[in-house]
Amino acid sequence: MNRVAVIGSGISGAVCAWNLAGKNGVSVTVFESARGPGGRMSGRRETTEDGKELVFDHGAPYFTATNADVRSVVGDWEARGLVAEWKESFGSFDFISKTFSDYEKDGSCKKFVGIPKMNSICRALVSEPGVETKFGVGVGLLEWLEDEGSWSLNGLDGQNLGHFKGVVASDKSVFSPRFRNATGRPPPLDLNLVPELASKIKEVPVDPCFALMLAFEQPLSSIPLKGFSFLNSKVLSRAYHESSKPGRSTQSENWVLHSTAEYAENVIAQTGLQKLPAATLDKIAEELFQEFRNTGLSIPRPFFKRAHRWGSAFPAARISEEENCLWDGKKRLAICGDFCVGPNVEGAILSGLAAASKFNETFSCL
Ligand SMILES: Cc1cc2nc3c(=O)[nH]c(=O)nc-3n(C[C@H](O)[C@H](O)[C@H](O)COP(=O)(O)OP(=O)(O)OC[C@H]3O[C@@H](n4cnc5c(N)ncnc54)[C@H](O)[C@@H]3O)c2cc1C
Repeated sequence: MNRVAVIGSGISGAVCAWNLAGKNGVSVTVFESARGPGGRMSGRRETTEDGKELVFDHGAPYFTATNADVRSVVGDWEARGLVAEWKESFGSFDFISKTFSDYEKDGSCKKFVGIPKMNSICRALVSEPGVETKFGVGVGLLEWLEDEGSWSLNGLDGQNLGHFKGVVASDKSVFSPRFRNATGRPPPLDLNLVPELASKIKEVPVDPCFALMLAFEQPLSSIPLKGFSFLNSKVLSRAYHESSKPGRSTQSENWVLHSTAEYAENVIAQTGLQKLPAATLDKIAEELFQEFRNTGLSIPRPFFKRAHRWGSAFPAARISEEENCLWDGKKRLAICGDFCVGPNVEGAILSGLAAASKFNETFSCL
């Protein structure tokens, strides 16, 4: 039995695990440092003081599928009820003219959302037969065992996680020197073990973002769109009407707003990347909300308001345009993720598919 470890249950790791499981006798173990699946497609469940349950897609709000391979995969998920089309037109709001404009024309790219949450897709994929998933387990060290021709993985707590014929690293922190800034320890993968990949890997700059989750008692009837970008704001970049997505509760009027990268960078320059105190997050939430009100639109006070920081929301460079993933065939190590292809869900899916196909080619020849 070929055992493969997948580090990360974001969409690239989940797609790779799902695609590998059961093929060529591959058994897959996914290690995810977070409590649940999804990575930057995660959802947030909140309970208000009076017991109301609120759910937000505070990461990617939706995704598109233009590539034929991605369309085929998404078509399969749609048939299984894992995703549905969000049939709304998007536009923009200009802070100078105070008007909405640029409405999408019919036939623009289809938008897809996970049902009932964005991370439901990842949850389903890492629950497929042949995939075992361990949440709350961060991988801290990858060691190559030359005599066995396999990888030994250790958790961040030092515990041995087993030996694997191959490894998929679906997060750049696995090899990035930035891992040391966040944890005080070297990154799990020593690039000297994979010199051919080391020459292709470069540090990927990232754009941060704050997401603001808002819940109102009443519909925001002054807003004619369900998704729009803000023009001429240094603070806000986009807004999405969560409750208009298919499969969502309509008991309250939920919105998610995204800050500009510039705003988030300024905050991070002052606070650093350590965990933010609740009071700081509350202040950020209020600043973002005040900018929403600066639109001049009629926006009442929400009964729920919370900010979330995404320190690495979007990679600002790609490292593997030709092959969609990085691959060391001798040691069977794949590196995949949106930072290989493009800064969105579609790029991450393509990268996860590419990593799986490298393993499938290799194992079918063994
Ligand atoms: C606010 C925001 C808005 C966005 N908007 C859009 C949009 O409109 N459309 C769109 O298509 N995309 C959007 N994106 C981007 C999209 O979310 C990402 O491109 C995509 O989800 C990346 O998937 P991934 O698998 O490459 O990485 P990730 O989702 O980051 O997954 C990596 C996973 O690895 C785990 N991990 C890391 N290190 C370890 C370790 N050592 N051990 C174990 N686990 C580990 C992490 O916890 C994480 O779960 C948005 C993202 C954000 C944050």
